[in-house]
Amino acid sequence: MIPPKYRSFSRLVSCLQSRLLAQHRKKMASGQMSRDEALECTRCRHACHVMLYSETATQLFGRIPIWYIVLMQMRFDGLLGFPGGFVNPSEETLEAGLTRELLEELGVAVPVSTEDHVESCFSPPRSGTCSSSSRLILHFYVKKIEEEQIREIEKAAASTAADHGLEVLGMVRVPLYTTKSGGGLSCFLSHSFIGVARSQLVNSLLRLHLVSPGDLREALRGSQRRHAESAQNLQAVLKLTGEQP
Ligand code: AMP
Ligand code: MN
Repeated sequence: MIPPKYRSFSRLVSCLQSRLLAQHRKKMASGQMSRDEALECTRCRHACHVMLYSETATQLFGRIPIWYIVLMQMRFDGLLGFPGGFVNPSEETLEAGLTRELLEELGVAVPVSTEDHVESCFSPPRSGTCSSSSRLILHFYVKKIEEEQIREIEKAAASTAADHGLEVLGMVRVPLYTTKSGGGLSCFLSHSFIGVARSQLVNSLLRLHLVSPGDLREALRGSQRRHAESAQNLQAVLKLTGEQP
């Protein structure tokens, strides 16, 4: 039995506790969690991926500023994604594991630290957003490097990287600009991405102010329109295989 003088205090504590619990539940329902919370799940598998980017002064056709080079890759499954892979936290830190994966995929052991960590979340079943219904936790990092390093990585990824032509079919740069005909970022975002890679990319572009929210909105609307055209195009191409309508 709580003495009367503590009653209002204990009410306050229990109110705060239930608020914290509700916040925690809301967070977990979205699939998001901190790096430390993620590591508490010993029954989970962990995968780490990183967005490497640099500034650049180069211009496309000598007049369209590129502003930033953002690296992604064409994966073995035909989907676009970020470099990285499975990590075993009982044997290595998440960041050491990610650096090991980068050596295999890029041919360069780019050092990644906890400061580069952006978010951890449960892998989605399908929807492309985070969810708590899986046992795979994805850890996402972002690291800014020099343009010269990006060039070295691109060279090594196609020559010395162990995974070249296997898990990685090639590195790609993300076009952040929009051409007069609406090409560029809009077309890029209409491709198919692994898991939450598209939202990881869009979130990072917004958070780091690499593209304005308005330009991103326009680009994504363009991507949606392009999807309808792609469906028609696929229908037409399917006929090449002899498939009857
Ligand atoms: P990897 O070895 O790079 O294929 O990644 C390990 C696991 O993470 C695989 O099950 C992938 O399907 C998954 N994965 C990789 N990148 C992402 C991503 N951006 N979003 C969600 N799942 C991913
Ligand atoms: Mn990988």
